[in-house]
Amino acid sequence: MRIEGRCHCGNLGFELETARTWETIGPRECDCSFCRAHATRCVSDPEGRAAVFVADPERLVRYQFGLRTAEFLVCGRCGVYIGAYAEEEDGGLSTLNLRATAHRDRAGAAVSYGPEAAESRRARRRDRWTPTELRLGVSPPAVHAPG
Ligand SMILES: [Zn+2]
Repeated sequence: MRIEGRCHCGNLGFELETARTWETIGPRECDCSFCRAHATRCVSDPEGRAAVFVADPERLVRYQFGLRTAEFLVCGRCGVYIGAYAEEEDGGLSTLNLRATAHRDRAGAAVSYGPEAAESRRARRRDRWTPTELRLGVSPPAVHAPG
């Protein structure tokens, strides 16, 4: 399936291509204070592919906190959080926020990553996040009606 997301104003967007189903992709709700503030519900697939589109890079906030091992992509115009992105040696990885999609109300499972050290956090992301191309200066494609 393809999961398409947009921020509220359309400056940021993403497409996630996955062979998984809603049962196997397992939306997750992280319990960190950032994710709770946004009611984040994220999905990723290490065997899938994703692209993140940023029409106006001047209006992209790449927020970092804690271990600073990833960037939390927030629209600088409408304030919507669309997902987290990490640049690794062999390319980008992401976990993307279902709240910015038509599937925002699908149930998620609570997860907690608080006690991880930086290296185990990176290893988990390599295992679970989606290989992702960050496309700066490219407008998100039109979102299709959910199937
Ligand atoms: Zn926006």
